[in-house]
Amino acid sequence: MLKKLRAALGLDIKAREYAYGSDPEHGYLSAQKIPEKWVKTTCGYCSVGCGMVVGARDERIVSVRGDQDHPVNRGTLCPKGLSEHQMMASPHRARTPLLRQDGGSLERVSWEQAYGAMVARVRKVQERYGLESFAVLSTGQLVTEEFYALGKLVQLGFRTANYDGNTTLCMSSAVAGYKQSFGSDGPPGSYLGLQKAEVVFLIGANIADNHPVLWHHLNQNQNRTLIVCDPRKTKTAMLADIYLPIRPRGDIDLLNGLIHLVIENGYARREFIEAHTRGFAELEKHCRPYTLELVVQRTGLPPQLIWDTFQAIARAEKVFFAWTMGINHSTQGTDAVSLINTLALITGNIGRTGAAPMSITGQCNAMGSREFSFTSSMPGYRKFDGEQDRQELARLWGIDAQQLPPRRGLVYPDIVDGILEGKIRALWVIATNPVLSFPDQARLKEALRRLDFLVVQDGFHPTATTELADLVLPAAIWGEKEGSYTNSERRVSRVRTAVAPPGEAKTDFEIFLELAGYLGVRDRLFPGWQGPEDAFAEMRRVSAGRLCDYSGMSYALMEAQGGLQWPCNEDHPEGCDSLYADGIFPTEDGRANLMFTSAEKGPEEVDDFYPLLLNTGRTVEHWHTGTKTREVPILDKLAPEAWVELNPQTARRYAIGARDRVCLVSARGRVDGLLVRISETIGPDQVFVPFHFAEQCINKLTLPAFDPKSREPNYKQCAVRLERCRQPQP
Ligand code: SF4
Repeated sequence: MLKKLRAALGLDIKAREYAYGSDPEHGYLSAQKIPEKWVKTTCGYCSVGCGMVVGARDERIVSVRGDQDHPVNRGTLCPKGLSEHQMMASPHRARTPLLRQDGGSLERVSWEQAYGAMVARVRKVQERYGLESFAVLSTGQLVTEEFYALGKLVQLGFRTANYDGNTTLCMSSAVAGYKQSFGSDGPPGSYLGLQKAEVVFLIGANIADNHPVLWHHLNQNQNRTLIVCDPRKTKTAMLADIYLPIRPRGDIDLLNGLIHLVIENGYARREFIEAHTRGFAELEKHCRPYTLELVVQRTGLPPQLIWDTFQAIARAEKVFFAWTMGINHSTQGTDAVSLINTLALITGNIGRTGAAPMSITGQCNAMGSREFSFTSSMPGYRKFDGEQDRQELARLWGIDAQQLPPRRGLVYPDIVDGILEGKIRALWVIATNPVLSFPDQARLKEALRRLDFLVVQDGFHPTATTELADLVLPAAIWGEKEGSYTNSERRVSRVRTAVAPPGEAKTDFEIFLELAGYLGVRDRLFPGWQGPEDAFAEMRRVSAGRLCDYSGMSYALMEAQGGLQWPCNEDHPEGCDSLYADGIFPTEDGRANLMFTSAEKGPEEVDDFYPLLLNTGRTVEHWHTGTKTREVPILDKLAPEAWVELNPQTARRYAIGARDRVCLVSARGRVDGLLVRISETIGPDQVFVPFHFAEQCINKLTLPAFDPKSREPNYKQCAVRLERCRQPQP
């Protein structure tokens, strides 16, 4: 009471924030901003998975603060999380179903008409061109219960295996790399590792911008050595003890060199290697030519830095290896991931807190999609071609194993190719915006134009993708739905409803179940299901005994503990911090594979016509295609447009000054009006542009080149040239 009184009188800033939240436009004391209720939930942006408490009033979220009790963030939030509620009131929220008839404009229809049209049009396409002429592109934004329902609906209801998520654009290389090394997907480490490691090696990961709250974990570790390897001197690199300014695509040569130095200098943990891995002799032979001299020549790194890195890794008892898109976004991403795993394995850095390899994921629930969405594997990390896995899943679902797809269907880029080849004729896009996020935009747009029927289900309209749709299904977003997200460290946290969705929008879960009713499969696929908790109960049964075991979880326990890390079962009733503590891996013989590879040339080299290498990435203020964050006034004011980073030498060469406007041109397109920032963060042969901005969509330039194993795009390097703008820009 006293706290509220002090707040009302404006005497106590902290208490005012506690009572009313902060609102830059209306001030602290606006009565409309005083929450009537507080709801604990999880942030809906990135995979750090911060716990938050949202304050709601009159069906609006009016305040957000970090959850002091949540183990991931202990009350802190980054700028995106702090302002997350502001995007909900956007005028661009999708509110009603919209249908385009006979090539006209999108017109408002009822849900009954929308479902009827979707089922009729998809059936017509499937009857004419086959079941697999219908494809689905999903997301990392749904709650896991929705992924689980969607997977059953697509694979067993619509009976097409051509189903994938936009998660292929950001972390399918991590998935494929884990499978190669350990026999299964699943990040072995957790955030506690950042606090407990002696050495933290971040490779291709700018966590200060992209996963800001992870800094709090690093900051609690005062005795660690931080090594950062990145071609760009990012905020993260500036805080490193050892910064490795590697040449683009030098990662594989560096990792081979470090493995060679570890083995040659007698630091390989022979006992662990002999007991728990296979392939050491071949690895040793492969890496022998990677002398310090060769690695210096290939990576452009000074020999002392490579040596210091090797010494730090080899001598430490606990090394935590983490990476993000700098590794994954490459035509060799899968093999680079496996090489990191190999380095961790031969130095004995697996299965202990602070000693593990770990991919840091992108979207808030990309991990949930990996566990249960029925895309790259069957629910519970089951293999499409594993007879035992098939029989087990069929028994749990009470179906014949023949009804399960015999193989994985087309992956995201292959769905796009399939459309261009005329094999895919209808597409359902859910909570993703490929018209901004997919590489080589001209080609992608051409594919979407060729479809007979495009359905887009999204919380926002118009977006670059909904504008092309024949049918728009308005969906609820974060704050308006119930379920769970899994973060990068395998922590499953609760996502809770604070307010109702706007207009006639429905949760994705409701849409999937109602659509199943129109398709005539609801009782068969979702018997007795009323809400996400029914899906969760089935997920617990389906995952029991698997690596991603949810069987010991409940919504109540997750809420009480601030999430639970799988496996969570009788052996680990409070969840599990590290995978593979026993040195047993989910391969046929229980041993991890010591994978190795050699660097290949990039898919596109610079030349006289396109002499600069383009690197793309993110900034702390925005999230992916900006559909949400560009609706938040404070974030859009802080970062209102794209920019290009140029090294001072490059700027001099082109006689360009800071704040000039330039355009970049690749063999696939051009982007005009980029604001110049001159900085030594980037090398003289490279440029950097963030990818969040529709007006300056950098994916007009990027390459349609993909990792052959994971099918992840090579967003990080393509050849461009720089030109002065043809016209003055704003
Ligand atoms: Fe949300 Fe990620 Fe920021 Fe945490 S770090 S508040 S999860 S965007």
